[in-house]
Amino acid sequence: MKLTREVSLGKIILGGKNPVRVQSMCNTDTRDAAATIAQINALEAAGCEINRVAVPDMDAAKNISKIKAGIKTPLVADIHFDYKLALEAVKQGVDKIRINPGNIGGADKVKEVVKTCADAGVPIRIGVNAGSLKTLKEFSGRPDWSDEKWASVMVNEALEEAGILEQLNFKLYLVSLKSDNLNRTALAAEEFAKQANVPQHIGLTEAGSFLAGTVKSAIAMNRLLSQGIGATIRVSLTEDPKLQVRAAYEILKAVGLREYGPEIISCPTCARTQADVAGTVKKLEETIYSDAELLKKSTGKKIAVMGCAVNGPGEARDADFGIAGGKGEGIWFERGEMKGPKIPQDKWIDKIINKILE
Ligand code: SF4
Repeated sequence: MKLTREVSLGKIILGGKNPVRVQSMCNTDTRDAAATIAQINALEAAGCEINRVAVPDMDAAKNISKIKAGIKTPLVADIHFDYKLALEAVKQGVDKIRINPGNIGGADKVKEVVKTCADAGVPIRIGVNAGSLKTLKEFSGRPDWSDEKWASVMVNEALEEAGILEQLNFKLYLVSLKSDNLNRTALAAEEFAKQANVPQHIGLTEAGSFLAGTVKSAIAMNRLLSQGIGATIRVSLTEDPKLQVRAAYEILKAVGLREYGPEIISCPTCARTQADVAGTVKKLEETIYSDAELLKKSTGKKIAVMGCAVNGPGEARDADFGIAGGKGEGIWFERGEMKGPKIPQDKWIDKIINKILE
């Protein structure tokens, strides 16, 4: 796979040989700067590297500078239909615009947005979604297309949109080709990568719930990432955006492209279990994955939470450290070796966190 060209987004460089960056999108009201800043700060603590907000009206656009002042990561404005919102977002200091040049009405308006972005050095993402393809206007319902046909229509529309920017000599752009269908999404991204060396933002759209959406996204993203396709990733889930960040990193980690947080192993529990293994794992994950320092210090560590001392320490001997539960207390072990006095269950999380911070 040939390398794509690079696009700078604030201090981050996307494309080329640079790491695949994780992004998410706020679900707060952008007109509420305090709520949006709070959500982005939480996403930053979870490792989110690029954050996007919807800009539905001028009040939202005018809030961009206020939001930027409260966050550390690059901010992307998601614009539909009204080119004036894009102009205002750039004026307010946004780091990137997500737009579909085909839906902001006429060449003059596209030209004005592109010129404004060029002058400010602000990149654009052309977002092509299967559900809003221009070609679909010719159909009253859902067209009976194969996945290949869907992908080829998506790619043609993306190339058409990219052509508008290229004609204006604007190279500072990325493209996304998304569908809720993993095969169509992957086929479109693969075909686009063959035809253009433009960096891609990859992900499914409307992927679904946490479990279903993560599974679908992981299969599609693995296929693309293992071919070198994807400069930045967003896992779109009907869930807290922090979990979208987590899912994106888990995918990148599994493909071997990024390191992020610990590997927490835990047993499925059985009749021998006398402790709350599931509750401990959940609380441990919530604690680590919402704290940037814990995330950093636990990266590369294998931590075990096991349901009994009979099998736990032995089964988890590959872990750096962990707990094997008993009734209301647990045994601490490190690399399969039991250590020290028993620990009451309400102190397990503290013990693990202190060990991470050691
Ligand atoms: S580690 Fe113990 S509690 Fe957990 S599944 Fe195995 S035998 Fe059951």
